[in-house]
Amino acid sequence: MVVYPKNQKQVIEPVMDSQPTEKSNSMMYICGECHSENQIKPKDPIRCRECGYRILYKKRTRKLMVYDAR
Ligand SMILES: [Zn+2]
Repeated sequence: MVVYPKNQKQVIEPVMDSQPTEKSNSMMYICGECHSENQIKPKDPIRCRECGYRILYKKRTRKLMVYDAR
């Protein structure tokens, strides 16, 4: 059972331990417990360094949108 913080539902998603993440070097995850940021590499176990909580949320970096607003 995953409980989403309601106001953050649109920008984060739960990441399970067994799920392979992105191929990039490391990503930022938000702890589901203490909400601290964790930079985790693909080989690292998904776990909060602060409190040891094992459900982290992937922090989506928004793509840089450039509009030609004239
Ligand atoms: Zn934590």
